[in-house]
Order: sequence, then C-alpha cells, then structure tokens
Amino acid sequence: MKKIYLAVVVFIIISCGSSNSIKTDKAKVGRIMNFLASDELQGRDSGSEGIEKAAEFIEKVFESNRIKPFFQSYRDTLSNSQKIAYNIVGFIEGRDEQLKNEFIVIGAHYDHIGIRSAVNGDTIANGANDNAAGTTAVLELARYFGKARSNKRSLVFALFSAEEKGLLGSKHLAKKLKEQNFNLYTMLNFEMLGVPLVGKDYLTYATGYERSNLAEVCNGYAKEKLVGFLPTAKEFNLFMRSDNFPFHTEFEVPSQTFSTFDFTNFDQYHKVGDEVSLMDFGHMASLVNKFIPVIEGIANTSRQEIKYK
Ligand SMILES: [Zn+2]
Repeated sequence: MKKIYLAVVVFIIISCGSSNSIKTDKAKVGRIMNFLASDELQGRDSGSEGIEKAAEFIEKVFESNRIKPFFQSYRDTLSNSQKIAYNIVGFIEGRDEQLKNEFIVIGAHYDHIGIRSAVNGDTIANGANDNAAGTTAVLELARYFGKARSNKRSLVFALFSAEEKGLLGSKHLAKKLKEQNFNLYTMLNFEMLGVPLVGKDYLTYATGYERSNLAEVCNGYAKEKLVGFLPTAKEFNLFMRSDNFPFHTEFEVPSQTFSTFDFTNFDQYHKVGDEVSLMDFGHMASLVNKFIPVIEGIANTSRQEIKYK
C-alpha cells in the first residue's frame, strides 16, 4: 500500500514537473522578442525582406514543435495584397475523436509598419509591442501545446501579415476558411501585450468584452481575474480594429482580442520608439502561462461554453 502511494506521489511530481518545464519564462520570451523586434527585420513591413525573416523564424518554431502546416505548407498567400505576403498557419489536431472536428484559432499579426521618417537618427519602427509581443505569446502557446498535446479540440495557430494595411491577412484567411466550411468554435487574438496595465484589478482586457461571456469563462479557468473590461477599448471600438474582427464577420462566433495596451501605459504606438528595451518579458511570460490552463479548459470542455450574448 505504502509503495503504491509513494509511486503515485512520484508520478504526480514527475508529470507536474514536465508540464511546468514546457511553460514559458522571461528568457524564452526575450529570445523571440529580441529577434522579431531587431533592426535586422527592418520593422517587418508586409512584403519586405525583413518580414520574410520573421516568417521563416515562425515556420522553424512550428517545425521544431511538430506543429503541422494547416494548408499544403505553413504559408497562406494573401489574395488581397498587392505585394506578396503570407500568413503563417500551423495546426495541432485535437486528441478527441469527436471534439477534434471543432477548431479554435489562436492568432496575432506579425507584420508592422517598416521604415518611417527619422527620429533621433532612428528610422526603423521595430514594432516590439505592436505586435512582436502578440506573436511571441502565440508562438510560446504553440510550443506549449506542441509539446503537451493536451488539447481535445483542434488548435490553429495563425500569424497574420498585412494587419497594418487594413487587416488584410486575417480578412483573407477568415474568408478562405469560411469557404472551406471550417468549423470554428472561437477565435482568440493577441495584440500588444508587452507592457503591463497599471492600477487595474485585472491583468488583460478583452475587446468586445460586453458581447460575450469570454472573460467570465477565462477567469473561471484562470481562477483569478485574468480578463477585465477596459472602457476605452469600447470607446475606440478596438473590437473592430484587430484580426479577430474578420472572423467575427465571417463566422459570427465569439472572436475577440486580448491586450494590455490601454493608451496610457505606452506612448510609442506606431512610432520608431516601439523598441524591445521597453518591453517587460516577465509580465509577458506570466501572462502566457496564465493563458495555458484557460486555453486547455476551452479546448477540452465537452460543451462549447463561450457564447455571444
Ligand atoms: Zn497591432
């Protein structure tokens, strides 16, 4: 009896340890952020040589975590962009025979605004907060689920191009998936998470907060107030201003964006000063880790619980 008890305890410790070790941390976040927001990538303007390096980097992350291409390859070529631009789309099939036919899209745009006029000799808009931060969050979630394989529903990881040209990448992908009768449950998008909110009793806000019970569902799985309501997000209609919106339009299922940019905690939005040195990697890592049980919960519960009101 004692031996069995001991074996069970040892097993639990080992399995907890292995799932903890694939969570993210400051160093892992920093490594990705430092690359995506480096001068070498020239501000990741869609169609540029710089963004091509980001695309190749994302493909390598997918490949090394055995995340399959959702289409023939990871690249989904935009049909609505003059310059050649690609979304990068990976996929982890759910492990439940029934639920794997339902899909959750986890997205972020990886493009930015490229080269701008010089401020103190700097012309590169590195887009660390907008949106190397969201891209990093999605890549670290992808790495986690690639290793853990804990999802019953299928997960699609989509990194969008040409968001800055008018949500072109997400418009293209949402339309294409709709035409293919893609069975979307919910679309969760990540934008500008590099700097923490100040003086709030929640850690991130959801755009379109009042439209659904998403925040309530997230907070239930997080066991804390992870997601809250930011009045200025509603005032400026951020719900319509990021890559969740085309999915909302095409599918009419809960499609919302998480962000920690509140117009007061970061004054370098769309400026050349949106640099990696201003980012808080500890905050980002903590947030990503808090979203792991949330996404696991949403992916694994038997019934689709996120609903528009
Ligand atoms: Zn953005």
